[in-house]
Amino acid sequence: MEYQTTIDKPFTLSGPGLHTGKFTHATMLPAPADSGIVIRRTDITPNIDIAALAEYVVDTNHGTTIGHDGVTVSTIEHLMSSLRGMSVDNALIEVDGPEIPILDGSARMWIDQIAASGIVTLDTERRYYSIQSPVVWRDAERNIELVAEPADTFSVESTIEFQSDLIGNQTATLDSLDQYQSDIARCRTFVFLHEVEILLAHNLIKGGDLENALVFVDKPLGDEEKQRLASVFNKDKDSIHVHNGVLNTIEPYFANEPARHKLLDFIGDISLVGMPLKARFKLRCPGHYANTQLAKIIRNQVVNQAIKQ
Ligand SMILES: [Zn+2]
Repeated sequence: MEYQTTIDKPFTLSGPGLHTGKFTHATMLPAPADSGIVIRRTDITPNIDIAALAEYVVDTNHGTTIGHDGVTVSTIEHLMSSLRGMSVDNALIEVDGPEIPILDGSARMWIDQIAASGIVTLDTERRYYSIQSPVVWRDAERNIELVAEPADTFSVESTIEFQSDLIGNQTATLDSLDQYQSDIARCRTFVFLHEVEILLAHNLIKGGDLENALVFVDKPLGDEEKQRLASVFNKDKDSIHVHNGVLNTIEPYFANEPARHKLLDFIGDISLVGMPLKARFKLRCPGHYANTQLAKIIRNQVVNQAIKQ
């Protein structure tokens, strides 16, 4: 028999949110069995608790946002991915603002802190939800197909397809959550340079700093543009350079880091089912909207099964 887990000691990670730029503190605390993952806004009186479940997803533009009673928390996906990736079933996350800190754009700092805190076993059995027959979510126009098939364990195979020589078609696989820490957790988010300009024009990515995303340079980068990016991101113009198509002071960890990051995001989004899953996922062009739609379908199955019992 497997037992549920939580973390041992509380810890705090702080920093700006990617989109709002708001500096927040996110504190993870131990939680009792069967409480799941709950995110609490502590800057609001009385505090508002939002269960990290698919039915509370309110927005999936540039990240996954959950909300309750008109109060929201954005960009929860890397935090959620770290919890599922580390098999932490129960935790309370207190945050004093509307967005989880982006940190380095991956789940690395979360898993490092969870490992340092320690994971403790509770005395309540861990229950899995097993997919009974294939579940498919498809958007043919956008070339998206997410499939969940019955299996004895949790695994993901994820392919991304971009009309760009810089990324092109990439596949990432996870055969077991045992590989999460070494192969997935530190893979950072990515963006194309032309998208950076659109996001900036919409007053988003205020917390972006060229260290928390791989920026793929898909258009000529002139001196004037370099100067503009340097001033937006508080950099020296001469520190902005392009290496192997990536604009940054950072180097990719893996050739297929974008595909691995999409897999990281998926693990976070699908964890909104609220239970660990036994399923084999095959993903083509996953994204937050599609991921959370699939999570909602499976979440409905879980809820209906619970009602029948
Ligand atoms: Zn992400």
